[in-house]
Amino acid sequence: MNIKLLGDYYVWYCDWCDTRNLTLQQKFAVGVVSCGACHKHFDTTAREGEHFALCGGF
Ligand SMILES: [Zn+2]
Repeated sequence: MNIKLLGDYYVWYCDWCDTRNLTLQQKFAVGVVSCGACHKHFDTTAREGEHFALCGGF
C-alpha cells in the first residue's frame, strides 16, 4: 500500500482497485482501514509486524 500524509489525513491507494482513499490519522491508528470503492480491508499495522518478524530472526 502506498501511503502519504496530507494534513490530518493519510492518502493511500487501494492494492485491489487503485482507488485513491483519504483516511483520518486517528482511524488509521486503530489498525484497519477499508477502501471506499471495493470495501476491501487493509491492516495498517502490517509494517510493524514485519519489523517484529525481522527482529525475531536473530
Ligand atoms: Zn479498492
